[in-house]
Amino acid sequence: MAPVRVRFAPSPTGMLHVGNARTALFNWLYARGKGGTFVLRVEDTDVERSEERHELQLMEDLLWLGLRWDEGPVTGGPYAPYRQSERLALYARHTEQLLAGGKAYRCFCDVAQLEADREAALATHEPQNYAGRCRQIPPGEAQARAEAGESYAVRLRIPDHPLRFHDLIRGPVEFPHETISDPVLVRSGTLREGGMPVYNYVVTIDDALMGISHVIRGDDHISNTPRQVAVYEAFGWAVPEFAHLSTILGADRERLSKRHGATSIASFRAAGILPEALVNYLALLGWGPSGGDHEVFSAEDLVREFQLERVTASPAVFDWAKLHYLNRYYLKTGDAARLLELAWPFLTGAGMLPPRGATAPEVRGWAASMLGLFLHSIDQLDELPAKAAFLFEVNREAVRAEGENKAVLESESAQEVLAAFAARVRASAGEVTPDRFKEWMNEVKAETGVKGKDLFHPVRIALTGSHSGPEFDKLLPVIEQGASLSLPRPVRSVRDRIESFIEGEA
Ligand code: GLU
Repeated sequence: MAPVRVRFAPSPTGMLHVGNARTALFNWLYARGKGGTFVLRVEDTDVERSEERHELQLMEDLLWLGLRWDEGPVTGGPYAPYRQSERLALYARHTEQLLAGGKAYRCFCDVAQLEADREAALATHEPQNYAGRCRQIPPGEAQARAEAGESYAVRLRIPDHPLRFHDLIRGPVEFPHETISDPVLVRSGTLREGGMPVYNYVVTIDDALMGISHVIRGDDHISNTPRQVAVYEAFGWAVPEFAHLSTILGADRERLSKRHGATSIASFRAAGILPEALVNYLALLGWGPSGGDHEVFSAEDLVREFQLERVTASPAVFDWAKLHYLNRYYLKTGDAARLLELAWPFLTGAGMLPPRGATAPEVRGWAASMLGLFLHSIDQLDELPAKAAFLFEVNREAVRAEGENKAVLESESAQEVLAAFAARVRASAGEVTPDRFKEWMNEVKAETGVKGKDLFHPVRIALTGSHSGPEFDKLLPVIEQGASLSLPRPVRSVRDRIESFIEGEA
């Protein structure tokens, strides 16, 4: 069997979004699962809209997702160059070949002519196909007109038999040739080499010359495929297998777009979605394993389990709740050192940690324990600064005014508990360890007769600003160690917190 070679062929005209990222992932998974080759090809023939910064961002996003290409820009490979703008001479040679063999012809119709034909067809309810006006011009005459400087496009002669291909997701697909106009392969007049070749044409030349065995892409291209099949046939090339992936919809079942919020890979990354969570999630958009409703898959699991044949043809709905569920899973179970690396910029951005580079080991250690307090209670990393804010600042007035806090603090028992707790804090020196804290709380309980949440909530509110939060056993060392370090924003000690909280109280 021919080796499996697949490609991801983005146009660098914007950000990499969910849909294309899933296409890249499915290509990568298929290649990895079959011991094949994953090619990255940059389709930048749209010179107006293609930009280098988009190409760079695209590659960065792919690498962030862990989707390394075997051949492509930067890596190189036997079919280089992998950027279409660097392959124009090759396309031009192929055009010569098609014209010489009569598989394509020069079309001299100008825009006005084509528009008039279209309107006439519209008026008589005929299909608005190209009328074939230039199909019959004898090649010698056409060549002479071209040489005399008349501008022309190159059109492919669509054969008079149905255009067929096999789709691994949809099965055999057939388009009647009557529905397909002779497509333009090379637009008139733009480029020195004799016009600008169009997507349907260059994609086919590249897929064929690069030995692509399976074309896996979005189903927005399915109507292009018969035209591409005609190009394969015109050159006498074998038609590859196709797999057209279903559309991704938003929760309102409309095609996923900007209206549904940020869906670029860069924006997920900026929000603190972990790449492993996103890869896992993208894989489930249209694919599911055989047997069972298992949802957590590492990249290795996916490589082992992924089958194109199990990808569904019906649209997939993008579901933030599921993405968050997976992100929480990886936040809870991930390697602590790695999560710290990933979380660090979010905390630096909020001025809570110094830049990662020149950090003292005790600050790193503290940052790790601090992270441990919150990783279990966030959906994405950008929630960290808000979660951690109380370590750096407790706004006494705001905390006291907050509804639930107010109810807790106004009770008589709360006043007694706080007074008794504060007395112990004041009478002691040194760090407030969890053991010490427990001892004091037992004493306060004995002294006031208050227990349970009536005992703990007022103290927690005084220390953290809220009646719920991380366990004291983990929290107290973070507060006390933080207070002993020199951080961009100081952490206030337990002593300091209690003092300032009850300051001005009777
Ligand atoms: N450059 C095309 C796109 O980004 C590639 C389509 C294909 O995979 O054939 O939509």
